[in-house]
This record gives sequence, C-alpha cells and structure tokens, in this order.
Amino acid sequence: MKAITRFAPSPTGYIHIGNVRSAIYPYLLAKQTGGKMILRIEDTDRERYVEGATELIEDTLKWLGLDWDEGPIVGGPNEPYFQSERKELYLEWAKKLIASGRAYADPTPSEKIDEYRRECSAAKKPFLYRDHRPENPPEWEPGMPIRFLTVPKEYEWHDEVMGDMHTGPEVLDDIILIKRDGYPTYNFAHIVDDAEMGVTHVMRGVEYLSSTPNYLALYEALGLERPKLVSLPHILAPSGNKKLGKRDGAKSVTEYRDDGVIAEAMLNYLACLGWNDGTEQELYTKEELIEKFSLARIQNSGARYDETKLFWMNGQWIRRICDTQGVRALYDRTIGFWPEVAANYPEDYRVKVLSIIYDRLKTLSDLREMTTYFFVDPAVEIDAVVGNKFLKKMSEAEIESLLKVVIRKLSDVQEWNANKLQEALNELLAETGKKPAELFSLIRIAVTFAAFSPALNLTLDVLGKDVTLARLNAVARAI
Ligand code: GLU
Repeated sequence: MKAITRFAPSPTGYIHIGNVRSAIYPYLLAKQTGGKMILRIEDTDRERYVEGATELIEDTLKWLGLDWDEGPIVGGPNEPYFQSERKELYLEWAKKLIASGRAYADPTPSEKIDEYRRECSAAKKPFLYRDHRPENPPEWEPGMPIRFLTVPKEYEWHDEVMGDMHTGPEVLDDIILIKRDGYPTYNFAHIVDDAEMGVTHVMRGVEYLSSTPNYLALYEALGLERPKLVSLPHILAPSGNKKLGKRDGAKSVTEYRDDGVIAEAMLNYLACLGWNDGTEQELYTKEELIEKFSLARIQNSGARYDETKLFWMNGQWIRRICDTQGVRALYDRTIGFWPEVAANYPEDYRVKVLSIIYDRLKTLSDLREMTTYFFVDPAVEIDAVVGNKFLKKMSEAEIESLLKVVIRKLSDVQEWNANKLQEALNELLAETGKKPAELFSLIRIAVTFAAFSPALNLTLDVLGKDVTLARLNAVARAI
C-alpha cells in the first residue's frame, strides 16, 4: 500500500528536536512504500503565528534531506498547502454538516460559556458543551462559530503505536469547527485536509490521542474512511518524567546544525529515538532507514533525549564521511567551523589538519578549539610544561637538556614525513631512556600547549620542520 503521509506543523516558532520525528517517520514510510509525503502548513491559529517560522520549517526539512513531494515551494495537486488560504473549503464542509444536521451555528456569547463553565466547576461536574447546546440555532452568519453536533457513544479504534483503544461517551463533545474569526480549528481543518489530500496515515504527537474519539465522530458524520492513526510518544527530557521542552535544552534543529552537527547524524539520532529495527545497529543512512523503518517497531513509551549520544553519533558520522567519501568531502562540510586564523592558510593545509584530527571531532565546531595551534604559535607557558603530570619528576634543567636533545635529533631529520618522524621519535626514546609518556608529553606540550593532539608524528608532520623547531626552541629558551 502506497502511504500518503503528511507533516503538518504550525508555524509558531522553530521546530525543536522533540517535534522532528513527526516529519521523519512520515517521510520514511512514504518513501518506503513509494507513496508521498505532503507538507502542510497549519497556520489557522493567527494568535500564535510567527513570521518566518514557515521558512525555518522548510529550511530544517531540506537540511535533513526530508524532501516533501507536495506542499509549499514544490506545489502539487492539492494547492494551496497553507491552511489560511483554504478557509472557504473548511466553511463549505462545515455547511455540509449543518445541512445534514450534524453541526450548528452557535450564537452563545463567550461570557455565557464562561458562566456554564463556572457552574459546572462549582457543581464539580465535568463541563461538556453538548449539555448547553442552544435549542434553536440560527442561520450561520460570519462572526459566529460553527460547532459539531456530537452523538455521544463508545469508540474503539486501533492506533498503530498505542494499540487497541476504547473510550466511553463522556469524551465526546460539540467541538468548534469554525471559530468566530472565520478560521477553522485544528480539530476540523486537519480532518478536511487529510481527506482532501488522500492521507492514509496520520502520524502525529501523542497529545492528540485524547481528542481522537471526536475525530472518529467527525469521520463518521462526514462519511469518511478512517485513516491509519499513528501516535508518536513524547520525547522525554534528559531527566525526570516530563516531555522535552525548550527549557531542557530542546534546541532547534538548525541550532545544532550551526553548532556543527551534521545532517546524517541528526536524522539518524532522531529516527532511532524511540524506534529500532530489532538489531544492535546504531548507524543508519537515510536509505537504510527507509528500507528498515516499520510502524510496528515504534516504541509506545517516551524515549529519552540524550545530547551526549547525539554528539557521539555525530562523531561516528564525521568519521564515516571521511572514511567513505574522503577527507575533501568532509572538508566541504567544515566551512565556517575553523578558527578565524585558519583563513590565513591555504586550503590544502586545512585539509591536512582535518585529515589527522577528524577522528577526534564530536561536532564540526570542535575544530575551532582543537586546531588553533596549527595556525598560530601558542603562547609559551613554562608552568604548563614543568607542571605537567608526566614531567613533574624532572627538574627544569633536566627538561631543558632533554629538549635540546630533541631539537638536535629533529633538526637531523631530512625527509620530514610521518614515517621518518616516527623513526626519529623511537630513536629518541632509546637514546634518552625516557618513557614515551614523558618524552612525548614534553614534545607535545612544547609544540601545541594543548591538552590533546593527534598522534605526535602526524602533528609534527603537518606543522612542518621549521615551525616545530621554532616552537621547541622558544620553550628551551624560556626555561
Ligand atoms: N499542526 C499540528 C501541530 O503542529 C499538527 C498535528 C498533526 O500533525 O496533525 O501540532
């Protein structure tokens, strides 16, 4: 069965991490079945509308590689894809329901509704609008809400993730279809659009599960076939039992992009948050996800968001890209993530630096901190040398003479490359009788003044002979 799915965000701000799976899973299912994914912008809540949010949504989807088959920009047979431009259609559908006796124009002023609410709460009774439905509803005219006329009864349905569901008549109410401002509610608009657009699978956050009986009542009243319903559990905050919110670091997807997370890793991480294919596999390409995805393996409990895991996965993906597509391909993704001073060096040099450091990166922006010493001479801090945990046992005089031995040896290296440098370093170990931790720490600190560096021979190779010797000499002089 070709699945027609949709991602139907409301443009109320950026898409945060917790919401993206509602785009990823519909995309995967559509691609897997040769169907299509529709992007529909649900912008009927004019009070929550945020200028620019639609572009941000489009940008996020494009970056993640979730190309929609129908929707804004690409168009399609169901245009327009902005609900605010489909107002007439919803009104037509609502009028059909009025005509069939399943909806009514509601002239009740809001103050009166508030009063009903207060009375119910004083009497400790649940508030149901259907108990207060106007007796003789007037003809509809603009400015008047249209409400569904519900017929309370039990409902049973199957949710692809939550299983078999059952509710009593108490959850059915006369929900608003068209608001006073003429815009439809989400509750009504999505039913109309899903039907008009031929959506077969409604995949959305579990927060809509409790309203589902009202949607089922609407499908019935409209004579529509029920689509498959797929409720996606919340993504949980890193601790506690609450939904991941902006306060728990639920950044926008594009913020992670700007921090140096790569799209493949983000897609992989989010797709596997609450879904697995039953194996131990952790890294999936988009194509593999399309092939392996299944509704049946979406977890029905909330998955916990774990940024550390995301960064780990990002590191894995950085390696994978370099190892499978080559360092140049990875380099192309690093533009904008280098320390500013790197711009003074030729691209080939940056590529060389990348080729020895990429396997230590968790995000591309780590380049900023981790590579500075490849581009500027570090400030000489003698305390960092003599205070180093491997060098503490040596006196300053010992360190100085050891440095001199190192300088002499490295000055004699004719062919400055990683192999020859490794040979020279090994000879130095033999000649000085020092432990690798002592000798190599001393050289590493004197040359980089950084906590970590790639393998010493590789680092020295990339820095070059002149720079290496100049830095060693600067430390020797300062001691
Ligand atoms: N506009 C709704 C939201 O952003 C979409 C729910 C749905 O996918 O139907 O939460």
